[in-house]
Amino acid sequence: MACGVIKECRRCKREFTCVSTSRKAYCGKCRNPKWKEEWHKEHPWYKHYQSARKRCTAPRYGYVGKIIFEMTPDEFKYLWFRDKAWLLKHSSIDRIDNTKGYRLDNCRFIEWSENARLGALLNSGKKRRKRCPRK
Ligand SMILES: [Zn+2]
Repeated sequence: MACGVIKECRRCKREFTCVSTSRKAYCGKCRNPKWKEEWHKEHPWYKHYQSARKRCTAPRYGYVGKIIFEMTPDEFKYLWFRDKAWLLKHSSIDRIDNTKGYRLDNCRFIEWSENARLGALLNSGKKRRKRCPRK
């Protein structure tokens, strides 16, 4: 991308003049890490959205095609307020039915320690299963 191109910021949706060759379409304000920090403080569910989506879409986690991610940031926001996640010591997003993907009706915010405990229970049940022969 050439300099001086008018772009729409992906975050705040304002138009700005692109001054660098960066492909990322964020305005200067949104690229500023301090602003980001503030933004994340006001939108605490967003990091849950990002990390959950990353787990499902980045090949290195091995969940691509296994866990389907069908949620939007707004749905995470909805769950955040519905479950009063800010009252949790360490909030984490939980899939109620582990065989199903990330969908609004299958997700909730719970205490991270509780989520880890549920995960441990689940894994202990899986231990007896055969391992993938390629490993
Ligand atoms: Zn912006």
